[in-house]
Amino acid sequence: MPTFQKVKGTMDVHGHYARVKEKLLEVLRSMAELYAYQPIETPMMESTGLFERGSGDTTDIVEKQMYTFFDKGGRSLTLRPEYTAGVARAIVEEKLYANNDLPLKFHYDGPLFRYERPGLGRYRQFTQFGVECVGVDSAWLDVESLLLAVESLSYLGFRGVKAKINSLGGKASREAYRKALVEYFTPHVESMCEDCKRRLSTNPLRLLDCKVESDKKIAAGAPNILDYLVEEDKRRFEETVAYLDLLGIDYVVDPGLVRGLDYYSGLVYEINIAGKKDYGAVLGGGHYDDLLSELGGPSLPGVGFAVGIERLIASYIDEGLDAHCDPGLDVYLMPIGEGAYRESAPLLIEVRLNGYSAELPPAPGKLGSYFKRAERAKARFALIYGDEELGEGKANLKDLEKKEQVEIDLSKLSEELDAHLGREDEHVI
Ligand code: AMP
Repeated sequence: MPTFQKVKGTMDVHGHYARVKEKLLEVLRSMAELYAYQPIETPMMESTGLFERGSGDTTDIVEKQMYTFFDKGGRSLTLRPEYTAGVARAIVEEKLYANNDLPLKFHYDGPLFRYERPGLGRYRQFTQFGVECVGVDSAWLDVESLLLAVESLSYLGFRGVKAKINSLGGKASREAYRKALVEYFTPHVESMCEDCKRRLSTNPLRLLDCKVESDKKIAAGAPNILDYLVEEDKRRFEETVAYLDLLGIDYVVDPGLVRGLDYYSGLVYEINIAGKKDYGAVLGGGHYDDLLSELGGPSLPGVGFAVGIERLIASYIDEGLDAHCDPGLDVYLMPIGEGAYRESAPLLIEVRLNGYSAELPPAPGKLGSYFKRAERAKARFALIYGDEELGEGKANLKDLEKKEQVEIDLSKLSEELDAHLGREDEHVI
């Protein structure tokens, strides 16, 4: 028989990991909702041209990492390697900018696909949560997106969250800087890696982002983009920084930060979580001016970020923040004897209808085996009854942590459960 293994760079998600993932996504979504972002879903596959648009810059993602294929109708499709282009496409195609107040604020999450070399915190299918705020050019909205990013990580329990920020400026600034970079790197070209040799003519900004040690040393002496910002871009960056100071957001200006996608202009930022292991940046984002117009839409700016959920989960678990992610079962039913077992279904249904998770053993058995199952299911309470108790309309409710047991009246099951298991108001945040 053939055996099958998951595709390289992908993972199966289950058990505790799946719980942590759910919890983190729930918190991120709720935080975004507090900031008035609304959900959007876009398809997992898009026309390849959406990602390959434009002729100017090139990025590793578009050049080397896309899962591109032809469908049976001969269309070139690509599994989305990033979200922003798909969201921008939806905004343009559905004319969302015309039918709603601006800015449009969206949050989203789901799988992305990049043909990368799998490694620590690097997968070929991974999950992002992200936001986009589109339609109004404002330093405040740029900052608000970063504030949401920082606040979300802090709320999750990460301490000392620090953002790296930079400004890539607008077209004029970037053009001047590009020239300066070409001038600086050209004398070094012979000793640079093949990718960098190519980048020198296709996308010199990416030279700052090379991971090859000897190239990093060359890049360290490169001109600083902030020295090339035109007056307007300089003012905008100062305004941004003033907001960050006002809000007490911890940041460091890193002129080497260029980000891996080429639609960014103006503010860019990244957050690394300093923990036991270095998974690379957990979050990245920034401002973009021309993406919508490149897609045939109006000239509207946007700002957004994306969090890598697998990296976030890894850091969350490393930091020991994950202890409360498994809710466990509320009630484990323990019928003593076959007669009581047969009478259990209505009871089970009633407990569940009252909003408490409950489980019945798969077959009648001994109390000892029930307790072992209840422990493995992390049950908070056991509901124990035999024929005799059922006949009297009673059962014993045992708190499995405190080891205390009370007799309850089954005709008032709902009130009894609320009294003993009563949960606080269930807000995620
Ligand atoms: P990007 O879309 O490249 O700006 O990346 C945003 C975030 O997605 C990064 O900070 C990472 O946390 C995450 N990410 C990007 N690529 C991968 C990958 N191959 N595997 C896992 N996470 C990734």
